Order: sequence, then structure tokens, then C-alpha cells
Amino acid sequence: MKNLEQRNQIIEYSLKLNSTNLSPLRSGNISLRGIEDDIEGYLITPSGKKYETLKPEDIVFMGLNEDEKNDPTKKPSSEWRFHRDIYKNKKEAHAIVHAHSPHATAVSSHGKPIPPFHYMIALAGGDDIKCAEYATFGTKELSKNVIKSLENRSACLMSNHGQVAFGKNLDDAFELAQEIENICHQYTIALKLGQPKILSFEEMKKVLDKAKNYKKG
Ligand code: 13P
Ligand code: ZN
Repeated sequence: MKNLEQRNQIIEYSLKLNSTNLSPLRSGNISLRGIEDDIEGYLITPSGKKYETLKPEDIVFMGLNEDEKNDPTKKPSSEWRFHRDIYKNKKEAHAIVHAHSPHATAVSSHGKPIPPFHYMIALAGGDDIKCAEYATFGTKELSKNVIKSLENRSACLMSNHGQVAFGKNLDDAFELAQEIENICHQYTIALKLGQPKILSFEEMKKVLDKAKNYKKG
């Protein structure tokens, strides 16, 4: 089977979506940039299938320049549009994790960016984490809103829906999605105590400069 190693990797991380409680049952989706038959594209989880039942042949290859799926017998994730558009817009994106993680989803329902109540906000690439405006799942409009909120960022919330994170590989994208969930968990606790103190623009600039050298192995 073509791209068997990548297909198995997607299954491994899909199971982790469930086991780490990042996305229950069949919610969320995962993709990996790839090439098949000289076509540039990405491999993505199928739509509406429980992760525990996934087999390598269920993972769908989609061309980057295709508006529709390449193989009419397969049903890619309903969110293939924003996965494709992230790969098209972000050369540094090689893997994408979309999750309905509990705290990120709760915070997303407020439809507002997360301010720098903690310096780890910088992990998403800037001094806040944006929240993409709501649009129905699987639509072009949702993809447009996600791309806008990912400007200069590698993760964002999706209003009344969840979160999306990308990285240089699946491990990287998955770790970022876990960090976003953790930040949202902390933020929900902070909000229960009142309005948290927000770090200044100058402080976040310092943090963003330091953060460039933070991740080592
Ligand atoms: P899919 O099963 O079609 O990927 O849908 C899950 C989801 O999270 C939609 O936003
Ligand atoms: Zn979703």
C-alpha cells in the first residue's frame, strides 16, 4: 500500500486523540503532508469513523490542488478544506491536528482571543491565541476563518467548535494541541477567580524572542 508508514502514523496519533482525552470517540481529525503518484497532497483521517476501528486503507490521500477527493470510493474528513488550505498557505506545516478538546472547546464558545494571562501563549506564535469566527463545520467559510486566525500563528481556537494546531511533524502538531488544551484549562480556572492580570506587549515581545530557542528535543 502507498504511504503505509504515514497511514500507520496517522492511526497511532488518532488513537492518542482518544487516549489523551484530546478528542473523544470520532471527533476531530488528523492529517499529514505527503506525495502519492507524484501528486503533492496530504493523507487525512476518514469522516465519521471511530478511531479505534481505523485501518491503513481508511486513510484518504487528497491532492493539494484538487477541490474534490481524488478517490470517489473514499470519504475524507469533512474538514479536508481547512487541512488543504493550511498546507497551501503554510509551507512549514507538515501535520495538522484538529480536536474538540474539552477546555479549548469551552473557551472557544466565547468567540474571543485568549490574551497573554500566561507567557506560554507564545507557543502558538504570538502574544495571543486567536479564535476563528464560527461557521458550519466542513465549509469553505470555516476554512477561510481558520486561515485568517492562523496568520503568524501555528494554532488557533475555532468558535463554538474546538481547536486546530499544525507542526513540522505529527509529534510536534499533537504536542502543540495538548499545550493549547492545557493553556485553555488554566485560563478557565483563572477566569473563575475574576479577571486575570494580562502580561504587557513588551513582556510578550521578550518572551517571543526567548521562545525561539526554547524547544530542544
Ligand atoms: P470528521 O469525522 O468528518 O473528520 O468530522 C469530525 C469533526 O471534528 C468535524 O469538525
Ligand atoms: Zn471538529
